[in-house]
Amino acid sequence: ERPITTLTKAIKETQIQRDKIDVGDAVIHWYKTDLRLRDNKSLHLASEKAKSKGVPLICLYLISPQDFRAHCTAAVRVDFMLRNLKLLKENFAESDIPLYVETIEKRRNLPGRLIELCKEWGAKHVYCNIEYEVDELRREAQLTRKCLNAGISFNAVHDTCIVDPGELTTAAGGALSVYSPWHRKWCKYINDHPDALKEFPAASRNPVTARQKFQKLFEQAIPDAPEDKSLTAEEHERFSQLWPVGGDEAMNRLTKFISERIKKYHTTRNLPAGDGTSILSPHLAVGALASRTCVREALEASPVKKLTDDRQQGCMMWIGEVAWRDFYRHVLCNWPFVCMNKCFKPEYTNIEWEYNQDHFKAWVEGKTGFPIVDAAMRQVKHMAYMHNRCRMVVASFLAKDLMLDWRMGERFFMEHLIDGDFASNSGGWGFSASCGVDPQPYFRIFNPLLQSEKFDEQGDYIRKWVPELRDVKGKAIHDPYNRGAEAIAKKNGYPKPIVDHKMARERCLERYKRGIGRS
Ligand code: FAD
Repeated sequence: ERPITTLTKAIKETQIQRDKIDVGDAVIHWYKTDLRLRDNKSLHLASEKAKSKGVPLICLYLISPQDFRAHCTAAVRVDFMLRNLKLLKENFAESDIPLYVETIEKRRNLPGRLIELCKEWGAKHVYCNIEYEVDELRREAQLTRKCLNAGISFNAVHDTCIVDPGELTTAAGGALSVYSPWHRKWCKYINDHPDALKEFPAASRNPVTARQKFQKLFEQAIPDAPEDKSLTAEEHERFSQLWPVGGDEAMNRLTKFISERIKKYHTTRNLPAGDGTSILSPHLAVGALASRTCVREALEASPVKKLTDDRQQGCMMWIGEVAWRDFYRHVLCNWPFVCMNKCFKPEYTNIEWEYNQDHFKAWVEGKTGFPIVDAAMRQVKHMAYMHNRCRMVVASFLAKDLMLDWRMGERFFMEHLIDGDFASNSGGWGFSASCGVDPQPYFRIFNPLLQSEKFDEQGDYIRKWVPELRDVKGKAIHDPYNRGAEAIAKKNGYPKPIVDHKMARERCLERYKRGIGRS
């Protein structure tokens, strides 16, 4: 049984009994990857429940270092979450709502601790938004029943996708694994159900008594990051400058993008040197911003109020990108194994991968001798972020030119990206290594040189991130050793290409063909 089915059953089967439970002395909203005040379904429901009976709302976040390790969460993303939590705590305090944060070392203790806290605070209703990773779905199914045995109503609700997983199916009722037909249904669903984009009102102010009753919770400081997920002081400072936190920051970015750049998105989104994309992914990844908010705001500002399939328009194309986020979450629910290091098509399991550590090191350090690849890897090192076009280029390069096991790259991304997102990352790597749900044939192999010439025509992106090549003029920037800039490259210590693309391409085709043929 799929974990999402197990949870759905647990919710349905306990509904009547849960509804009978009285409100208790407080209501809890349990934060996970939904770190925002605005447009948050679970927070809204918890607040309404508390308000209806005049009891306080308590917000809770449980730090689970073991989950960070299991998901390879980057230290920079943990830092981003903790900074968001700190600001949330301050914002909530203005409405007399406490936000309590605790570290639970062993994740198996988390459900028990949640129940203990409920008892300590006299809370009988817990609300949370569903996360679709397998362990989380199983845990929430367990919690639904465990809480009920302790006289507590545990309410896990769908919020993170604009269209809930399970809503879009083929005519025969099956799950959709191809984006285009799925996207058409996604647009139709939203057009037919305008409530899918409805904003959930913010939490109401707590009764004044909440302060005296839960004083300790207001005073508690946000814990530090687990030791193995800590940043150095320099990194913390750099990332704080680069990535300010909070719902207002995310909304301002969104509003600015919509008013200034969305119209041109379809022509600028592939150019890594410019600012054609929204750069909202870090905020979406920790839930400081809801994708529902993004689509609603974009549509409200657009002359077209319905989702059409006119992909020419920047606005529709951008919404189509936000839709990919929902798509990969639906994939995660329907085929959980795809996001657990397995290939969507079983015949791809037999491909023979390389494990050349020198090549992997060169890729990680941005020293492959392919300037576009190196620029992108250095961008990630400095910013913990990479442009989408470059993610596709470096992922294809790792899996197809170096023939390195794509799982090494997938893991590296999760360990270093501020926007590391289990479903989207796994989807992106599956797409690039042709092992995922995407139907594109494996023999479409990116040529890094052509990608560079097409999407970084003037070489501005390369010059920004690869200082060794800053003085290289003209087209030589894309391939200095073969286009007459050898002297500058050599002088500045820029490496020669570590593979020959033509030969690497042949090897890749042969390996994929042999691997698939073997099954
Ligand atoms: P915009 O172009 O402004 O798009 C708006 C939002 O739509 C993004 O913030 C993101 O939430 C969503 N989105 C856009 N493209 C995609 C996509 N292809 N798949 C899923 N969602 C998308 N995105 C992540 O958020 N986390 C990841 O860990 C991640 N890993 C990736 C790995 C690979 C190999 C590839 C090819 C793509 C990956 N992506 C990932 C998708 C995409 O690269 C980023 O979402 C995008 O670059 C973020 O920049 P932006 O906010 O400016 O995007």
